[in-house]
Amino acid sequence: MTTFKDLGLNENIIKALTDLGYENPTEIQEKAIPQVIASKKDLKAFAQTGTGKTAAFSLPILEQIDTNSKNTQAIILSPTRELALQIAKNIEEFAKHIKGFRVSAVYGGASIEDQIRKLKKGVHIVVGTPGRTVDLINRKQLNLKNVEWLVLDEADEMLNMGFKDELDKILAVTPEEKQTLLFSATFPREVESIAKNYMHKPVEITSGEKNKGSDQVSHQFYVVSERNRYNALKRIADVNPDIYSIIFCRTRRETQEIADKLIKDGYNADSLHGDLSQAQRDSVMEKFRKKHLQLLVATDVAARGLDVTDLTHVINHKLPDQIESYTHRSGRTGRAGKEGISIAIVTGREKNKLHPIERIIGKKFVKTPIPTGKEICQNQLLKLIDKVHDIEVNEAEIKDFLPAIYKKLEDLTREELIQRFVSIEFNTFLSYYENAPDLNDSEHMQSGRETRGRRNDENMSRFFINIGKKDKLNPARLIGLINDQDIAKNIEIGQIEILDTFSFFELDKNYQEETLKAFESNDNSFEGRSVNVEITEKKRSGRGGRSGNRRRRDNGSNNRNENSRSGGGKRRSKDRKENSSTPSGFGRKRSTRRKG
Ligand code: AMP
Repeated sequence: MTTFKDLGLNENIIKALTDLGYENPTEIQEKAIPQVIASKKDLKAFAQTGTGKTAAFSLPILEQIDTNSKNTQAIILSPTRELALQIAKNIEEFAKHIKGFRVSAVYGGASIEDQIRKLKKGVHIVVGTPGRTVDLINRKQLNLKNVEWLVLDEADEMLNMGFKDELDKILAVTPEEKQTLLFSATFPREVESIAKNYMHKPVEITSGEKNKGSDQVSHQFYVVSERNRYNALKRIADVNPDIYSIIFCRTRRETQEIADKLIKDGYNADSLHGDLSQAQRDSVMEKFRKKHLQLLVATDVAARGLDVTDLTHVINHKLPDQIESYTHRSGRTGRAGKEGISIAIVTGREKNKLHPIERIIGKKFVKTPIPTGKEICQNQLLKLIDKVHDIEVNEAEIKDFLPAIYKKLEDLTREELIQRFVSIEFNTFLSYYENAPDLNDSEHMQSGRETRGRRNDENMSRFFINIGKKDKLNPARLIGLINDQDIAKNIEIGQIEILDTFSFFELDKNYQEETLKAFESNDNSFEGRSVNVEITEKKRSGRGGRSGNRRRRDNGSNNRNENSRSGGGKRRSKDRKENSSTPSGFGRKRSTRRKG
Protein backbone atom coordinates (compact mmCIF):
# COMPACT_ATOMS: atom_id res chain seq x y z
CA MET A 1 0.00 0.00 0.00
CA THR A 2 1.28 3.47 -0.91
CA THR A 3 2.33 5.69 1.99
CA PHE A 4 2.54 9.48 2.24
CA LYS A 5 6.31 9.08 2.32
CA ASP A 6 6.21 7.33 -1.07
CA LEU A 7 4.46 10.39 -2.48
CA GLY A 8 7.45 12.60 -1.70
CA LEU A 9 6.26 14.45 1.41
CA ASN A 10 8.73 15.47 4.10
CA GLU A 11 8.86 14.26 7.70
CA ASN A 12 7.21 17.37 9.17
CA ILE A 13 4.15 16.94 7.05
CA ILE A 14 3.98 13.18 7.60
CA LYS A 15 4.17 13.73 11.34
CA ALA A 16 1.18 16.10 11.17
CA LEU A 17 -0.78 13.62 9.06
CA THR A 18 -0.09 10.87 11.57
CA ASP A 19 -1.35 13.20 14.34
CA LEU A 20 -4.54 13.65 12.32
CA GLY A 21 -4.97 9.91 11.94
CA TYR A 22 -4.39 9.89 8.17
CA GLU A 23 -2.73 6.52 7.61
CA ASN A 24 -2.68 6.17 3.85
CA PRO A 25 -3.36 8.55 1.00
CA THR A 26 -6.75 8.51 -0.72
CA GLU A 27 -6.94 7.90 -4.47
CA ILE A 28 -6.97 11.59 -5.41
CA GLN A 29 -4.05 12.27 -3.05
CA GLU A 30 -2.07 9.43 -4.52
CA LYS A 31 -2.55 10.87 -7.99
CA ALA A 32 -2.27 14.62 -7.30
CA ILE A 33 0.52 14.89 -4.72
CA PRO A 34 3.47 13.42 -6.70
CA GLN A 35 2.24 15.12 -9.87
CA VAL A 36 2.22 18.61 -8.31
CA ILE A 37 5.52 18.04 -6.52
CA ALA A 38 7.28 16.77 -9.62
CA SER A 39 5.80 18.92 -12.36
CA LYS A 40 4.81 22.52 -12.98
CA LYS A 41 2.05 21.50 -15.36
CA ASP A 42 -1.49 22.66 -14.70
CA LEU A 43 -3.80 20.09 -13.21
CA LYS A 44 -7.46 19.45 -13.82
CA ALA A 45 -8.94 17.11 -11.23
CA PHE A 46 -12.36 15.51 -11.12
CA ALA A 47 -13.01 15.10 -7.45
CA GLN A 48 -16.00 15.07 -5.17
CA THR A 49 -16.19 16.55 -1.73
CA GLY A 50 -15.19 13.86 0.72
CA THR A 51 -12.48 12.29 -1.43
CA GLY A 52 -9.67 14.01 0.45
CA LYS A 53 -9.16 16.70 -2.18
CA THR A 54 -8.18 19.41 0.32
CA ALA A 55 -5.05 17.48 1.26
CA ALA A 56 -4.55 16.53 -2.39
CA PHE A 57 -3.87 20.15 -3.37
CA SER A 58 -2.58 21.53 -0.06
CA LEU A 59 0.11 18.97 0.75
CA PRO A 60 2.21 19.26 -2.45
CA ILE A 61 2.05 23.07 -2.17
CA LEU A 62 3.08 22.96 1.49
CA GLU A 63 5.94 20.67 0.53
CA GLN A 64 7.32 23.40 -1.74
CA ILE A 65 6.49 26.60 0.16
CA ASP A 66 9.48 28.81 0.95
CA THR A 67 9.01 29.97 4.54
CA ASN A 68 12.09 32.20 4.29
CA SER A 69 10.12 34.49 2.03
CA LYS A 70 7.15 36.55 3.25
CA ASN A 71 5.46 36.51 -0.16
CA THR A 72 2.06 35.01 -0.77
CA GLN A 73 3.00 32.00 -2.85
CA ALA A 74 -0.37 30.29 -3.21
CA ILE A 75 -3.94 31.50 -3.51
CA ILE A 76 -6.75 29.02 -3.02
CA LEU A 77 -10.20 30.13 -4.13
CA SER A 78 -13.29 28.48 -2.73
CA PRO A 79 -17.01 29.19 -3.15
CA THR A 80 -18.01 29.86 0.45
CA ARG A 81 -16.69 31.35 3.62
CA GLU A 82 -17.20 28.08 5.46
CA LEU A 83 -15.22 26.10 2.95
CA ALA A 84 -12.46 28.73 2.92
CA LEU A 85 -12.23 28.56 6.70
CA GLN A 86 -12.23 24.78 6.62
CA ILE A 87 -9.42 24.65 4.06
CA ALA A 88 -7.34 27.17 6.03
CA LYS A 89 -7.90 25.14 9.19
CA ASN A 90 -6.86 21.91 7.44
CA ILE A 91 -3.72 23.57 6.08
CA GLU A 92 -2.85 24.88 9.52
CA GLU A 93 -3.12 21.34 10.86
CA PHE A 94 -1.01 19.89 8.01
CA ALA A 95 1.63 22.58 8.61
CA LYS A 96 1.75 22.47 12.36
CA HIS A 97 5.37 21.23 12.38
CA ILE A 98 6.54 23.66 9.68
CA LYS A 99 8.25 26.57 11.40
CA GLY A 100 7.35 30.11 10.40
CA PHE A 101 4.55 29.04 8.07
CA ARG A 102 1.43 31.22 7.78
CA VAL A 103 -1.96 30.64 6.19
CA SER A 104 -4.95 32.96 6.34
CA ALA A 105 -8.55 32.90 5.13
CA VAL A 106 -10.22 35.96 3.61
CA TYR A 107 -13.98 36.05 3.12
CA GLY A 108 -16.95 38.39 3.12
CA GLY A 109 -19.22 39.09 6.07
CA ALA A 110 -16.29 39.71 8.42
CA SER A 111 -14.07 42.67 9.19
CA ILE A 112 -11.80 43.42 6.25
CA GLU A 113 -9.45 45.39 8.53
CA ASP A 114 -8.70 42.31 10.62
CA GLN A 115 -7.97 40.35 7.48
CA ILE A 116 -5.71 43.12 6.14
CA ARG A 117 -3.83 43.18 9.45
CA LYS A 118 -3.10 39.46 9.13
CA LEU A 119 -2.06 39.77 5.48
CA LYS A 120 0.39 42.52 6.39
CA LYS A 121 2.36 40.08 8.55
CA GLY A 122 3.13 38.04 5.44
CA VAL A 123 0.97 35.03 4.61
CA HIS A 124 2.33 32.16 2.51
CA ILE A 125 -1.02 30.69 1.51
CA VAL A 126 -4.19 32.75 1.24
CA VAL A 127 -7.52 30.94 1.07
CA GLY A 128 -10.28 33.25 -0.14
CA THR A 129 -13.77 33.57 -1.45
CA PRO A 130 -13.75 35.28 -4.85
CA GLY A 131 -15.62 38.46 -3.80
CA ARG A 132 -13.43 39.34 -0.83
CA THR A 133 -10.27 38.39 -2.71
CA VAL A 134 -11.11 40.89 -5.46
CA ASP A 135 -11.93 43.50 -2.85
CA LEU A 136 -8.51 43.05 -1.23
CA ILE A 137 -6.76 43.16 -4.60
CA ASN A 138 -8.58 46.41 -5.47
CA ARG A 139 -7.52 47.92 -2.16
CA LYS A 140 -3.97 46.83 -2.92
CA GLN A 141 -3.85 44.82 0.27
CA LEU A 142 -3.39 41.47 -1.39
CA ASN A 143 -0.45 41.05 -3.70
CA LEU A 144 -0.68 38.02 -5.94
CA LYS A 145 2.26 38.92 -8.19
CA ASN A 146 4.48 36.24 -6.66
CA VAL A 147 1.93 33.48 -6.67
CA GLU A 148 3.27 30.13 -7.85
CA TRP A 149 0.11 28.11 -7.31
CA LEU A 150 -3.49 29.02 -7.91
CA VAL A 151 -6.12 26.54 -6.77
CA LEU A 152 -9.73 26.72 -7.90
CA ASP A 153 -11.58 24.49 -5.47
CA GLU A 154 -15.15 23.45 -6.30
CA ALA A 155 -14.89 25.44 -9.51
CA ASP A 156 -18.36 24.37 -10.60
CA GLU A 157 -19.88 25.77 -7.43
CA MET A 158 -18.01 29.07 -7.77
CA LEU A 159 -19.39 29.48 -11.28
CA ASN A 160 -22.86 28.37 -10.17
CA MET A 161 -22.77 31.11 -7.60
CA GLY A 162 -22.00 33.71 -10.25
CA PHE A 163 -18.31 34.34 -9.50
CA LYS A 164 -17.18 34.27 -13.13
CA ASP A 165 -16.22 37.98 -13.23
CA GLU A 166 -14.32 37.74 -9.95
CA LEU A 167 -12.39 34.70 -11.15
CA ASP A 168 -11.46 36.54 -14.36
CA LYS A 169 -10.15 39.50 -12.33
CA ILE A 170 -8.11 37.36 -9.94
CA LEU A 171 -6.65 35.24 -12.71
CA ALA A 172 -5.64 38.42 -14.52
CA VAL A 173 -3.42 39.66 -11.66
CA THR A 174 -1.57 36.38 -11.11
CA PRO A 175 1.66 35.64 -13.00
CA GLU A 176 1.43 33.83 -16.31
CA GLU A 177 3.89 31.10 -15.29
CA LYS A 178 2.05 29.93 -12.15
CA GLN A 179 0.69 26.41 -11.80
CA THR A 180 -3.13 26.26 -11.80
CA LEU A 181 -4.91 23.41 -10.05
CA LEU A 182 -8.61 23.11 -10.76
CA PHE A 183 -10.80 20.82 -8.67
CA SER A 184 -14.41 20.23 -9.55
CA ALA A 185 -17.02 17.55 -8.97
CA THR A 186 -18.74 18.27 -12.26
CA PHE A 187 -17.54 19.72 -15.51
CA PRO A 188 -20.31 21.72 -17.16
CA ARG A 189 -19.49 24.02 -20.09
CA GLU A 190 -18.59 27.00 -17.91
CA VAL A 191 -15.92 25.05 -16.01
CA GLU A 192 -14.50 23.64 -19.23
CA SER A 193 -14.25 27.16 -20.61
CA ILE A 194 -12.32 28.37 -17.53
CA ALA A 195 -9.98 25.39 -17.99
CA LYS A 196 -9.58 26.18 -21.67
CA ASN A 197 -8.96 29.89 -21.23
CA TYR A 198 -6.69 29.84 -18.20
CA MET A 199 -4.86 26.54 -18.19
CA HIS A 200 -2.10 25.27 -20.46
CA LYS A 201 -2.41 21.66 -21.52
CA PRO A 202 -3.49 20.50 -18.07
CA VAL A 203 -2.83 17.01 -16.81
CA GLU A 204 -6.18 15.40 -16.02
CA ILE A 205 -6.71 13.22 -13.00
CA THR A 206 -9.85 11.55 -11.76
CA SER A 207 -10.83 10.10 -8.46
CA GLY A 208 -13.54 7.60 -9.27
CA GLU A 209 -15.38 8.14 -12.52
CA LYS A 210 -16.10 11.61 -13.81
CA ASN A 211 -19.14 13.17 -12.17
CA LYS A 212 -19.90 9.98 -10.34
CA GLY A 213 -20.90 9.84 -6.74
CA SER A 214 -19.10 8.09 -3.94
CA ASP A 215 -19.30 4.29 -3.91
CA GLN A 216 -20.12 4.47 -0.25
CA VAL A 217 -23.49 6.11 -0.91
CA SER A 218 -26.65 4.19 -1.73
CA HIS A 219 -29.53 6.07 -3.31
CA GLN A 220 -33.18 5.53 -2.44
CA PHE A 221 -36.41 7.13 -3.54
CA TYR A 222 -39.85 7.34 -1.98
CA VAL A 223 -42.96 8.16 -4.00
CA VAL A 224 -45.58 10.27 -2.27
CA SER A 225 -48.34 12.65 -3.21
CA GLU A 226 -47.44 16.31 -2.70
CA ARG A 227 -49.49 16.64 0.46
CA ASN A 228 -47.72 13.68 2.07
CA ARG A 229 -44.21 14.89 1.38
CA TYR A 230 -43.69 16.34 4.83
CA ASN A 231 -45.24 13.36 6.62
CA ALA A 232 -42.97 11.04 4.65
CA LEU A 233 -39.99 13.11 5.78
CA LYS A 234 -41.07 12.73 9.40
CA ARG A 235 -41.46 8.99 9.00
CA ILE A 236 -37.99 8.69 7.51
CA ALA A 237 -36.63 10.56 10.52
CA ASP A 238 -38.72 8.47 12.93
CA VAL A 239 -37.70 5.11 11.52
CA ASN A 240 -34.04 6.10 11.96
CA PRO A 241 -33.75 7.12 15.61
CA ASP A 242 -30.03 7.87 15.21
CA ILE A 243 -30.45 9.94 12.08
CA TYR A 244 -27.93 12.74 11.53
CA SER A 245 -28.90 14.36 8.30
CA ILE A 246 -29.04 17.39 6.06
CA ILE A 247 -32.45 17.88 4.47
CA PHE A 248 -32.01 19.79 1.24
CA CYS A 249 -34.66 22.20 0.02
CA ARG A 250 -34.69 24.35 -3.10
CA THR A 251 -35.57 27.74 -1.73
CA ARG A 252 -34.92 29.70 1.42
CA ARG A 253 -38.64 29.85 2.06
CA GLU A 254 -39.16 26.12 1.72
CA THR A 255 -36.13 25.58 3.98
CA GLN A 256 -37.52 27.82 6.70
CA GLU A 257 -41.01 26.34 6.43
CA ILE A 258 -39.83 22.75 6.76
CA ALA A 259 -37.49 23.61 9.62
CA ASP A 260 -40.26 25.50 11.43
CA LYS A 261 -42.63 22.55 11.08
CA LEU A 262 -40.02 20.08 12.30
CA ILE A 263 -39.18 22.25 15.29
CA LYS A 264 -42.87 22.66 16.08
CA ASP A 265 -43.30 18.90 15.82
CA GLY A 266 -40.59 18.36 18.41
CA TYR A 267 -37.68 17.36 16.20
CA ASN A 268 -34.18 18.34 16.95
CA ALA A 269 -33.86 20.49 13.82
CA ASP A 270 -32.87 23.91 12.54
CA SER A 271 -32.51 25.78 9.27
CA LEU A 272 -29.52 27.06 7.32
CA HIS A 273 -30.05 29.48 4.45
CA GLY A 274 -29.01 32.82 3.07
CA ASP A 275 -31.66 34.90 4.84
CA LEU A 276 -29.97 34.25 8.16
CA SER A 277 -27.24 36.54 9.38
CA GLN A 278 -23.68 35.24 9.38
CA ALA A 279 -23.78 34.93 13.16
CA GLN A 280 -26.96 32.84 13.00
CA ARG A 281 -25.49 30.61 10.30
CA ASP A 282 -22.31 30.13 12.32
CA SER A 283 -24.30 29.20 15.38
CA VAL A 284 -26.48 26.67 13.51
CA MET A 285 -23.47 25.07 11.87
CA GLU A 286 -21.68 24.82 15.16
CA LYS A 287 -24.68 23.14 16.78
CA PHE A 288 -24.95 20.72 13.88
CA ARG A 289 -21.24 19.90 13.89
CA LYS A 290 -21.42 19.17 17.59
CA LYS A 291 -24.47 16.98 16.95
CA HIS A 292 -26.66 19.13 19.14
CA LEU A 293 -28.94 19.09 16.11
CA GLN A 294 -29.96 15.89 14.33
CA LEU A 295 -31.62 17.44 11.31
CA LEU A 296 -30.32 20.44 9.40
CA VAL A 297 -32.69 21.82 6.78
CA ALA A 298 -30.59 23.70 4.25
CA THR A 299 -30.34 25.23 0.81
CA ASP A 300 -27.60 23.97 -1.49
CA VAL A 301 -25.59 27.15 -1.28
CA ALA A 302 -25.73 27.49 2.50
CA ALA A 303 -24.65 23.89 3.05
CA ARG A 304 -21.51 24.24 0.94
CA GLY A 305 -18.39 24.01 2.98
CA LEU A 306 -20.05 22.52 6.00
CA ASP A 307 -17.46 19.91 6.80
CA VAL A 308 -19.42 17.19 8.49
CA THR A 309 -18.05 13.77 7.74
CA ASP A 310 -20.44 11.34 9.31
CA LEU A 311 -23.94 12.12 8.12
CA THR A 312 -26.10 9.01 8.15
CA HIS A 313 -28.48 10.38 5.51
CA VAL A 314 -28.86 13.14 2.98
CA ILE A 315 -32.51 13.83 2.27
CA ASN A 316 -33.70 15.59 -0.86
CA HIS A 317 -36.99 17.01 0.37
CA LYS A 318 -37.23 18.18 -3.22
CA LEU A 319 -34.80 17.31 -5.98
CA PRO A 320 -32.54 20.17 -7.08
CA ASP A 321 -33.26 22.07 -10.28
CA GLN A 322 -29.76 21.41 -11.52
CA ILE A 323 -28.89 17.76 -11.79
CA GLU A 324 -25.27 18.38 -10.82
CA SER A 325 -26.38 19.64 -7.43
CA TYR A 326 -27.60 16.15 -6.60
CA THR A 327 -24.01 14.88 -6.72
CA HIS A 328 -22.95 17.65 -4.36
CA ARG A 329 -25.82 16.95 -2.00
CA SER A 330 -25.30 13.20 -1.86
CA GLY A 331 -21.54 13.74 -1.54
CA ARG A 332 -22.22 15.08 1.95
CA THR A 333 -22.71 11.52 3.16
CA GLY A 334 -20.60 8.40 2.64
CA ARG A 335 -17.46 10.37 3.38
CA ALA A 336 -14.08 9.22 4.61
CA GLY A 337 -14.88 5.55 4.12
CA LYS A 338 -18.24 5.59 5.90
CA GLU A 339 -21.49 4.41 4.36
CA GLY A 340 -24.34 6.80 3.72
CA ILE A 341 -27.82 6.93 2.25
CA SER A 342 -29.09 9.62 -0.06
CA ILE A 343 -32.87 9.81 -0.18
CA ALA A 344 -35.10 11.51 -2.74
CA ILE A 345 -38.72 12.18 -1.83
CA VAL A 346 -40.57 12.54 -5.13
CA THR A 347 -44.11 12.78 -6.41
CA GLY A 348 -45.28 10.61 -9.28
CA ARG A 349 -44.59 13.46 -11.65
CA GLU A 350 -41.07 14.04 -10.37
CA LYS A 351 -40.09 10.40 -10.76
CA ASN A 352 -38.75 10.93 -14.26
CA LYS A 353 -36.19 13.39 -12.89
CA LEU A 354 -34.38 10.42 -11.35
CA HIS A 355 -33.20 8.89 -14.64
CA PRO A 356 -30.83 11.69 -15.69
CA ILE A 357 -29.39 11.69 -12.16
CA GLU A 358 -28.86 7.93 -12.34
CA ARG A 359 -26.87 8.45 -15.52
CA ILE A 360 -24.60 10.95 -13.78
CA ILE A 361 -24.05 9.03 -10.56
CA GLY A 362 -23.78 5.73 -12.40
CA LYS A 363 -26.06 4.07 -9.89
CA LYS A 364 -29.72 3.15 -9.68
CA PHE A 365 -32.10 4.65 -7.16
CA VAL A 366 -33.73 1.90 -5.13
CA LYS A 367 -37.47 2.27 -4.75
CA THR A 368 -38.17 2.15 -1.03
CA PRO A 369 -41.56 1.99 0.66
CA ILE A 370 -42.33 4.69 3.21
CA PRO A 371 -42.01 3.07 6.62
CA THR A 372 -45.21 1.94 8.24
CA GLY A 373 -46.21 3.01 11.73
CA LYS A 374 -45.37 -0.52 12.91
CA GLU A 375 -41.83 -0.40 11.53
CA ILE A 376 -41.27 2.98 13.14
CA CYS A 377 -42.55 1.78 16.49
CA GLN A 378 -40.34 -1.29 16.30
CA ASN A 379 -37.19 0.72 15.53
CA GLN A 380 -37.91 3.29 18.20
CA LEU A 381 -38.61 0.58 20.73
CA LEU A 382 -35.38 -1.26 19.97
CA LYS A 383 -33.50 2.01 20.31
CA LEU A 384 -35.10 2.55 23.70
CA ILE A 385 -34.13 -0.95 24.80
CA ASP A 386 -30.53 -0.40 23.64
CA LYS A 387 -30.47 2.83 25.62
CA VAL A 388 -31.70 1.06 28.73
CA HIS A 389 -29.22 -1.73 28.22
CA ASP A 390 -26.25 0.59 27.81
CA ILE A 391 -27.11 3.28 30.35
CA GLU A 392 -24.52 3.95 33.00
CA VAL A 393 -26.02 3.44 36.43
CA ASN A 394 -24.84 5.79 39.12
CA GLU A 395 -25.30 3.45 42.02
CA ALA A 396 -24.03 5.82 44.69
CA GLU A 397 -26.51 8.55 43.73
CA ILE A 398 -29.60 6.36 43.57
CA LYS A 399 -28.91 3.84 46.30
CA ASP A 400 -30.80 5.80 48.99
CA PHE A 401 -34.00 5.81 46.93
CA LEU A 402 -33.89 2.19 45.89
CA PRO A 403 -35.34 0.44 48.97
CA ALA A 404 -38.57 2.43 48.75
CA ILE A 405 -38.77 1.85 45.01
CA TYR A 406 -38.17 -1.91 45.34
CA LYS A 407 -40.91 -2.03 47.92
CA LYS A 408 -43.41 -0.22 45.69
CA LEU A 409 -42.70 -2.56 42.79
CA GLU A 410 -42.39 -5.81 44.72
CA ASP A 411 -45.72 -7.28 43.59
CA LEU A 412 -44.82 -6.97 39.89
CA THR A 413 -43.14 -9.77 37.96
CA ARG A 414 -40.13 -9.07 35.75
CA GLU A 415 -42.38 -9.28 32.63
CA GLU A 416 -44.93 -6.88 34.08
CA LEU A 417 -42.21 -4.45 35.04
CA ILE A 418 -40.73 -4.48 31.54
CA GLN A 419 -44.15 -4.00 29.97
CA ARG A 420 -44.93 -1.05 32.19
CA PHE A 421 -41.68 0.75 31.80
CA VAL A 422 -41.78 0.34 28.02
CA SER A 423 -45.33 1.67 27.98
CA ILE A 424 -44.36 4.81 29.85
CA GLU A 425 -42.05 5.90 27.07
CA PHE A 426 -43.88 4.30 24.27
CA ASN A 427 -47.62 4.84 24.55
CA THR A 428 -47.60 8.23 22.89
CA PHE A 429 -45.63 6.87 19.97
CA LEU A 430 -47.91 3.88 19.61
CA SER A 431 -51.04 5.96 19.68
CA TYR A 432 -49.54 8.47 17.28
CA TYR A 433 -48.89 5.80 14.69
CA GLU A 434 -51.95 3.74 15.49
CA ASN A 435 -53.95 3.41 12.27
CA ALA A 436 -51.36 5.52 10.45
CA PRO A 437 -52.22 5.44 6.75
CA ASP A 438 -50.00 4.05 4.02
CA LEU A 439 -48.29 7.13 2.60
CA ASN A 440 -46.87 5.41 -0.46
CA ASP A 441 -48.35 6.80 -3.60
CA SER A 442 -48.94 3.34 -5.03
CA GLU A 443 -50.62 4.77 -8.14
CA HIS A 444 -47.31 6.25 -9.10
CA MET A 445 -44.93 3.66 -7.75
CA GLN A 446 -45.34 1.83 -11.04
CA SER A 447 -46.43 4.18 -13.80
CA GLY A 448 -44.93 7.46 -12.70
CA ARG A 449 -47.92 9.20 -14.24
CA GLU A 450 -50.03 11.65 -12.33
CA THR A 451 -53.73 10.93 -12.73
CA ARG A 452 -56.28 13.37 -11.49
CA GLY A 453 -59.81 13.08 -10.34
CA ARG A 454 -59.64 9.38 -9.55
CA ARG A 455 -59.10 9.32 -5.85
CA ASN A 456 -61.65 8.59 -3.26
CA ASP A 457 -59.33 8.33 -0.29
CA GLU A 458 -59.63 9.35 3.27
CA ASN A 459 -57.61 12.51 2.79
CA MET A 460 -60.27 14.10 0.63
CA SER A 461 -63.40 15.98 1.64
CA ARG A 462 -66.43 15.77 -0.63
CA PHE A 463 -68.39 18.91 -1.42
CA PHE A 464 -71.82 19.52 -2.92
CA ILE A 465 -72.23 22.45 -5.30
CA ASN A 466 -75.65 23.64 -6.48
CA ILE A 467 -74.80 23.94 -10.19
CA GLY A 468 -74.64 21.24 -12.82
CA LYS A 469 -74.88 20.35 -16.51
CA LYS A 470 -77.95 22.58 -16.94
CA ASP A 471 -75.76 25.53 -15.94
CA LYS A 472 -73.18 24.51 -18.57
CA LEU A 473 -70.86 23.25 -15.88
CA ASN A 474 -68.19 20.76 -16.93
CA PRO A 475 -65.12 19.44 -15.06
CA ALA A 476 -62.80 22.04 -16.57
CA ARG A 477 -65.09 24.92 -15.62
CA LEU A 478 -65.54 23.51 -12.15
CA ILE A 479 -61.76 23.25 -11.67
CA GLY A 480 -61.51 26.86 -12.90
CA LEU A 481 -64.15 27.94 -10.42
CA ILE A 482 -62.36 26.14 -7.57
CA ASN A 483 -59.03 27.72 -8.54
CA ASP A 484 -60.67 31.16 -8.65
CA GLN A 485 -61.47 30.85 -4.95
CA ASP A 486 -57.75 31.00 -4.16
CA ILE A 487 -58.09 28.49 -1.35
CA ALA A 488 -54.45 27.37 -1.21
CA LYS A 489 -51.58 26.99 -3.60
CA ASN A 490 -51.56 23.67 -5.51
CA ILE A 491 -54.54 22.33 -3.60
CA GLU A 492 -55.28 18.81 -4.73
CA ILE A 493 -58.62 18.20 -6.46
CA GLY A 494 -60.05 14.68 -6.33
CA GLN A 495 -63.14 13.17 -7.94
CA ILE A 496 -65.56 15.38 -9.78
CA GLU A 497 -69.12 14.33 -10.54
CA ILE A 498 -71.25 16.65 -12.66
CA LEU A 499 -74.99 15.93 -12.51
CA ASP A 500 -77.91 17.76 -14.10
CA THR A 501 -78.68 20.44 -11.55
CA PHE A 502 -75.93 19.97 -8.98
CA SER A 503 -72.47 18.40 -8.71
CA PHE A 504 -69.85 17.03 -6.33
CA PHE A 505 -66.15 17.53 -6.04
CA GLU A 506 -63.42 16.40 -3.69
CA LEU A 507 -60.66 18.56 -2.26
CA ASP A 508 -57.80 18.05 0.14
CA LYS A 509 -59.39 17.51 3.55
CA ASN A 510 -56.78 19.76 5.15
CA TYR A 511 -58.49 22.72 3.48
CA GLN A 512 -62.09 21.83 4.21
CA GLU A 513 -62.83 24.90 6.30
CA GLU A 514 -60.97 27.24 3.98
CA THR A 515 -62.89 25.88 1.01
CA LEU A 516 -66.23 26.54 2.62
CA LYS A 517 -65.16 29.98 3.78
CA ALA A 518 -63.75 30.93 0.40
CA PHE A 519 -66.90 29.98 -1.49
CA GLU A 520 -69.02 31.80 1.05
CA SER A 521 -67.05 35.02 1.16
CA ASN A 522 -66.43 35.24 -2.58
CA ASP A 523 -70.17 35.25 -3.17
CA ASN A 524 -69.81 33.59 -6.59
CA SER A 525 -72.29 33.46 -9.35
CA PHE A 526 -72.11 31.04 -12.27
CA GLU A 527 -74.14 31.56 -15.45
CA GLY A 528 -76.39 33.88 -13.47
CA ARG A 529 -76.91 31.52 -10.52
CA SER A 530 -75.67 32.21 -7.06
CA VAL A 531 -73.22 29.44 -6.08
CA ASN A 532 -73.63 27.51 -2.88
CA VAL A 533 -71.14 24.92 -1.62
CA GLU A 534 -71.66 22.53 1.26
CA ILE A 535 -69.83 19.61 2.75
CA THR A 536 -71.30 16.18 2.03
CA GLU A 537 -70.49 12.69 3.20
CA LYS A 538 -68.00 10.67 1.24
CA LYS A 539 -69.19 8.19 -1.35
CA ARG A 540 -68.95 4.66 -0.01
CA SER A 541 -68.20 3.05 -3.37
CA GLY A 542 -68.01 4.04 -7.00
CA ARG A 543 -71.77 4.51 -7.13
CA GLY A 544 -74.34 6.50 -5.23
CA GLY A 545 -73.35 9.61 -3.31
CA ARG A 546 -76.46 11.57 -4.10
CA SER A 547 -77.67 14.69 -2.49
CA GLY A 548 -79.40 12.57 0.12
CA ASN A 549 -75.98 12.25 1.77
CA ARG A 550 -75.68 15.95 2.23
CA ARG A 551 -75.10 17.21 5.69
CA ARG A 552 -75.49 20.64 7.04
CA ARG A 553 -72.29 22.51 7.03
CA ASP A 554 -72.21 22.88 10.78
CA ASN A 555 -72.06 19.14 11.20
CA GLY A 556 -69.46 18.73 8.56
CA SER A 557 -67.08 21.09 10.22
CA ASN A 558 -66.44 18.84 13.19
CA ASN A 559 -64.19 16.65 11.17
CA ARG A 560 -61.97 19.59 10.53
CA ASN A 561 -58.39 18.46 10.40
CA GLU A 562 -55.90 19.78 12.89
CA ASN A 563 -53.81 21.14 10.11
CA SER A 564 -56.58 23.46 9.09
CA ARG A 565 -55.21 26.97 8.94
CA SER A 566 -58.35 28.36 10.48
CA GLY A 567 -56.92 26.62 13.51
CA GLY A 568 -58.50 26.38 16.90
CA GLY A 569 -59.69 23.38 18.81
CA LYS A 570 -57.72 21.44 21.31
CA ARG A 571 -56.27 18.20 20.06
CA ARG A 572 -57.60 15.04 21.55
CA SER A 573 -54.92 12.42 21.74
CA LYS A 574 -57.34 9.67 20.86
CA ASP A 575 -57.99 10.94 17.34
CA ARG A 576 -54.56 12.27 16.84
CA LYS A 577 -53.64 12.27 13.18
CA GLU A 578 -50.35 12.17 11.43
CA ASN A 579 -50.63 15.80 10.41
CA SER A 580 -50.43 16.62 14.07
CA SER A 581 -47.17 16.90 15.93
CA THR A 582 -44.99 13.87 16.30
CA PRO A 583 -44.71 12.81 19.90
CA SER A 584 -41.75 14.64 21.19
CA GLY A 585 -39.44 13.37 23.84
CA PHE A 586 -39.08 9.96 22.30
CA GLY A 587 -35.67 9.86 20.72
CA ARG A 588 -35.98 13.58 20.15
CA LYS A 589 -34.91 16.60 22.02
CA ARG A 590 -37.02 19.65 21.83
CA SER A 591 -34.78 22.20 20.27
CA THR A 592 -34.85 25.80 21.22
CA ARG A 593 -35.71 28.18 18.50
CA ARG A 594 -33.17 30.63 17.36
CA LYS A 595 -34.02 34.18 18.21
CA GLY A 596 -34.41 36.94 15.64
P1 AMP B 1 -12.15 16.55 1.79
O1 AMP B 1 -12.57 15.82 0.54
O2 AMP B 1 -10.86 17.23 1.63
O3 AMP B 1 -13.25 17.44 2.28
O4 AMP B 1 -11.91 15.43 2.94
C1 AMP B 1 -12.94 14.67 3.46
C2 AMP B 1 -12.62 14.13 4.85
O5 AMP B 1 -11.67 13.06 4.76
C3 AMP B 1 -12.00 15.15 5.78
O6 AMP B 1 -12.61 15.01 7.03
C4 AMP B 1 -10.54 14.77 5.87
O7 AMP B 1 -10.00 15.12 7.12
C5 AMP B 1 -10.58 13.27 5.66
N1 AMP B 1 -9.36 12.77 4.99
C6 AMP B 1 -8.76 13.30 3.91
N2 AMP B 1 -7.69 12.55 3.53
C7 AMP B 1 -7.62 11.52 4.39
C8 AMP B 1 -6.72 10.40 4.54
N3 AMP B 1 -5.72 10.20 3.70
N4 AMP B 1 -6.96 9.54 5.54
C9 AMP B 1 -7.99 9.74 6.38
N5 AMP B 1 -8.88 10.77 6.31
C10 AMP B 1 -8.69 11.65 5.32
